[in-house]
Amino acid sequence: MGAVAALADFLNRRWAEEAQEAKLFHELACTVLAEGLPETCDCPCPARIYERVAVDRRILRGCEERITKEQQELCWSIDSTLAFTTMKVLALPCELHSTYQYSWYP
Ligand SMILES: [Zn+2]
Repeated sequence: MGAVAALADFLNRRWAEEAQEAKLFHELACTVLAEGLPETCDCPCPARIYERVAVDRRILRGCEERITKEQQELCWSIDSTLAFTTMKVLALPCELHSTYQYSWYP
């Protein structure tokens, strides 16, 4: 697995965990908790977590597309370098995770 794929995999795993943990932040009177309905409710906290993860995933997709597009070059362009650095910044909140690699530090 290349450096970009490894970091993307790390990010996707952390965000999947965050989305899973977001379920813990429903309001006590939430119908999702009471009735086990699909996760559409008005609770503000899980919604904010889902939205932030969705934005981060969109940023990651853009970075991966930019890097993939330019991989035919023999060296990384400044755009790919910036895209990979952006991916490193996205991973920074998870720097204490046991699988975080210090080469990802921006
Ligand atoms: Zn809820």
